Amino acid sequence: MAYSGECSCGAVKVRIDAEPLTVRQCWCRRCQKIAAGGPTHNAIFPTESIVADGLLASDSYIADSGNTLTRWHCAACGTPMFSASSARPQLRVVRLGVLDGSHGLKPTVAIWTSEAPDWAIIDPSMDQFPEQPPAPPPQNCRN
Ligand SMILES: [Zn+2]
Ligand SMILES: [Zn+2]
Repeated sequence: MAYSGECSCGAVKVRIDAEPLTVRQCWCRRCQKIAAGGPTHNAIFPTESIVADGLLASDSYIADSGNTLTRWHCAACGTPMFSASSARPQLRVVRLGVLDGSHGLKPTVAIWTSEAPDWAIIDPSMDQFPEQPPAPPPQNCRN
């Protein structure tokens, strides 16, 4: 299955030839900043499965884990596109809003729920982690 998508202004286009390892929502405070107050919604894909076309800009910071987190956004319209951890360069986090409408993916895990605002409504059917969960299994894991 392949996924396609683009930023809000259309300057950056993306194609992904893989299934995501996991789809999560993240309530950490940094995600709330780029998601306008709510969580980010993220599908994690093998980096090698993603082809992006168009001008991206990025920012980086040192996370509590000590790893460097890099986030990429459209240089023209600012739409958050991807992020990655220096500890796991083989994985790329794709913001769900980037993907074209009928992708059929939905989050099954909520992370950093300890930083969610009081008014957050978190679907009780999702697995929940108060902070960072373990990394998803390797991409060739069939279990
Ligand atoms: Zn754009
Ligand atoms: Zn986050």
